[in-house]
Amino acid sequence: MAERTYDIAWLPGDGIGREVTEQALRVLEAVAQGAGFRLDVEEHPVGGAGLDAAGVPLPDATRAACMSAAAVLFGAVGGPAWDDVAAELRPESGLLQLRKALGAFANLRPVAVSAALADASPLRREVVAGTDLLIVRELTGGIYFGTPRGISGEVQRTAVNTMVYDEHEIVRIARVAFRWAQQRQGHVTSVDKANVLEVSRLWREVVTEVQREEFPDIALQHLYVDNAAMQLVRDPRSFDVVLTGNLFGDVLSDLAATLPGSLGLLPSASLGGRVGLFEPVHGSAPDIAGTGKANPMAAILSAAMLLDEFGETAAARAVRYGVSAAIQAGYGTADLRRDGHTLLSTEEMGERIAAYATLVIHHPPMPNGVPEVAVLDP
Ligand code: NAD
Repeated sequence: MAERTYDIAWLPGDGIGREVTEQALRVLEAVAQGAGFRLDVEEHPVGGAGLDAAGVPLPDATRAACMSAAAVLFGAVGGPAWDDVAAELRPESGLLQLRKALGAFANLRPVAVSAALADASPLRREVVAGTDLLIVRELTGGIYFGTPRGISGEVQRTAVNTMVYDEHEIVRIARVAFRWAQQRQGHVTSVDKANVLEVSRLWREVVTEVQREEFPDIALQHLYVDNAAMQLVRDPRSFDVVLTGNLFGDVLSDLAATLPGSLGLLPSASLGGRVGLFEPVHGSAPDIAGTGKANPMAAILSAAMLLDEFGETAAARAVRYGVSAAIQAGYGTADLRRDGHTLLSTEEMGERIAAYATLVIHHPPMPNGVPEVAVLDP
């Protein structure tokens, strides 16, 4: 009998959102028994599916279910069927409303490029292979939310946005970054524009204070955002945890997302409130929806982040190992074209990763965190 039960609000959304999160759930179920927990999964419509079901992109019942769940597993929203709806009803606004409702102020995006997949990157193998970084982006403050904002005037129009952070917002996101660094390589790069912006000067001061007072074990480096963009492309392996505000994080996380060469590899988590939101970085990919070509790895790795949040570290490790093992064994979906690889559909890839992960869940890790089973073939 499983000891722990987690209520998961499953919001597959639109397009490939359903296909990839179905595989994430398959892998979660596969590791649950071995790890001694149970999942109680309830599906709810969001995005275009929400519009079709209830006339709004985030139906009240979906919002309520998310607020009372242990975690939200989200697919993707949007698609041509809903392109003509009013701006406030667009499927994507359902996701923004949900993030706000959950109070998710910290957006985490890990970006890793394994040696086996380095040739899929637009950068040279010798620059990118072995990249393993985590972007921690502040998600609910900064210039995207500051007031005053707006466009005024008629003959000569003026537009204004306000970049604003208070100390409390900087402290809480800095703590998230430092805590992650403690579990990784112990290095935080804080990104700002302190040579020009007062907001960035405060950001830099507060981040430095948090490091000095609470995380003296972590190495802290500050970079201006323009330099950070350059270094991310020139030497991505020099980064461990990247801490940044909403605007710079938006740009840098998309820049970093190009490193692995496929959107289908990139997971994310939005945390900070009681309930975390876990979703692949990619959208609903209407061009491949329903063809079995979608790569489920981003959704499956998002599920691993969900397990991290629950403290189910053995299960999270097994899921990540399942993904790496599938890649190393030469399996790939259509987006990961490599010479000699075995092409799998979305579902076949999910099955394969679930099988690898299930084998590993029963094996203790070695001191370096790698499961004892080195080569597997389920
Ligand atoms: P997209 O991420 O859906 O697709 C971009 C390209 O990457 C496409 O060629 C697609 O086939 C490919 N791709 C994406 N995910 C993949 C995967 N898992 N496996 C293999 N290939 C994959 O972005 P888009 O085409 O700009 O947007 C499509 C729709 O998704 C739009 O309605 C957009 O608004 C929406 N969108 C939603 C989210 C979200 O829900 N978080 C994010 C981005 C875009």
